[in-house]
Amino acid sequence: MSESESAAGRCRVAIVGSGPAGFYTAEHLLKRTQLPIAVDMFERLPVPFGLVRFGVAPDHQKIKAATRAFERIADDPAFRFLGNVEIGRHLSVDELCRHYHAVCVATGAETDRSMGIPGEDLAGSHAATEFVAWYNGHPDYADRVFDLSVERVAVVGVGNVAVDVARILCRLPEELAATDIADHALDALRESRVRVVHVLGRRGPAQAAFTNAEVRELGALAGADVDVVSEEIDLDPLSQEEVARRDDRALRRKLEILRGFVGRPAAGRPRTLVLRFLVSPVELIGDDRGCVSAIRLVRNELYRDERGSLRPKPTDRTELLPVGMVFRSVGYRGVPVPGVPFDHRAGRIPTEAGRVLDPETGGSLPGLYAAGWIKRGPTGVIGTNKPDAAETAECIAADLRSGAAPEPIPPAGALDALLTSRQPRVLTFADWRRLDAVEVERGRPVGRPRVKLVTADEVARALAER
Ligand code: NAP
Repeated sequence: MSESESAAGRCRVAIVGSGPAGFYTAEHLLKRTQLPIAVDMFERLPVPFGLVRFGVAPDHQKIKAATRAFERIADDPAFRFLGNVEIGRHLSVDELCRHYHAVCVATGAETDRSMGIPGEDLAGSHAATEFVAWYNGHPDYADRVFDLSVERVAVVGVGNVAVDVARILCRLPEELAATDIADHALDALRESRVRVVHVLGRRGPAQAAFTNAEVRELGALAGADVDVVSEEIDLDPLSQEEVARRDDRALRRKLEILRGFVGRPAAGRPRTLVLRFLVSPVELIGDDRGCVSAIRLVRNELYRDERGSLRPKPTDRTELLPVGMVFRSVGYRGVPVPGVPFDHRAGRIPTEAGRVLDPETGGSLPGLYAAGWIKRGPTGVIGTNKPDAAETAECIAADLRSGAAPEPIPPAGALDALLTSRQPRVLTFADWRRLDAVEVERGRPVGRPRVKLVTADEVARALAER
């Protein structure tokens, strides 16, 4: 680790987290504020890119190409990546605040929301976020076990994460083998005996959270026929009224795509993906071994709530769907960062335009900022983080210009000595470039974009050998 070329004499900004929000904040600070700024980006894992590496599906390599822009940001001599450093363990937020003019938390939303129904803790009931992290080679999830010997699976939720999970379960092994899916997941999915994947929406097709490109892709899967229940695709009067009122072309297109699935003859593909609407899970049923064996669903109707949104309301009609595994995909949730205020109900840091708010006074805390999902909640695509990060970076820049950001006491570079005394194995962006080259080299002979290094041991060995 060497001090960034010109940290002395520059305003020092620490960014916690190396996903899209962290990189876009760094980019805006370094390229667009016209201020002399040096950025240190701290990452708990040895490798950068957060959600792009560990969240974006491996069969969506075009989306993963966002990392090329991040690499260009990292080329700036005033930027440093400090991997393997956990804020709250190796350094506290207080210490960061003492050493930097500004500290920006961009840690994303690291956990999931639960459904709050009986049976959710049975074996075979999982968070979709864990499955995603597992197949993407996140080191914390590498040893998770998903019983892919079951034939029927339910995915609860109809957002893009639910679609990702369903699609990965339905992909042919040879399709997965052309991606950078983690080797352990590729091996397990090759042996998968899953035959039917039910994706369950609690509201109607007009309220589905998935985007058009994602649902269209389901209809083009080589490994699965898509099926829908025709009467669930028909819009109820409230949805018809809403669709007419909103006059939203993308929504109309989404409904056309879904209607196109009605009555589509099965083409004999090895799996079936069933998209369901207006059903809510009310209970997961276990067998005598304590494993999920079925999911009890209630059929819903829609009503308009006091704020004008169409919400689901249970009817007295229920259904028992036999499944051996359930993934809840009902949204991500932020995790508190020690020393930073947190709104536990909303699952994010309270902010105003990126400035962190003091819950006691309601005023902003000088020098403390947030960007991305931990600031606004888990919504939007990768690009949504650009304007979000720009807003936060502009707050930082304004406070640096006005002198509202506190002046750090120790000189630039003092933090490095403190950090190496607590974590001797800090990884730099140069280390990441070496790891990247190893992964790409491992992928080349087998026609894959890369073969990921997953565990801390694999990473350490690759760095030692190179
Ligand atoms: P999301 O888009 O918010 O979808 C969550 C889904 O869970 C919704 O269908 C929601 O239904 C449902 N849900 C919530 N609580 C429920 C409950 N108790 N019972 C049943 N269903 C429930 O979240 P996400 O799928 O986790 O995605 C997070 C963000 O990442 C989104 O902005 C997404 O677009 C983005 N993303 C993008 C891509 C891509 O571009 N390819 C891939 C992955 C993720 P209601 O609408 O009824 O609340």
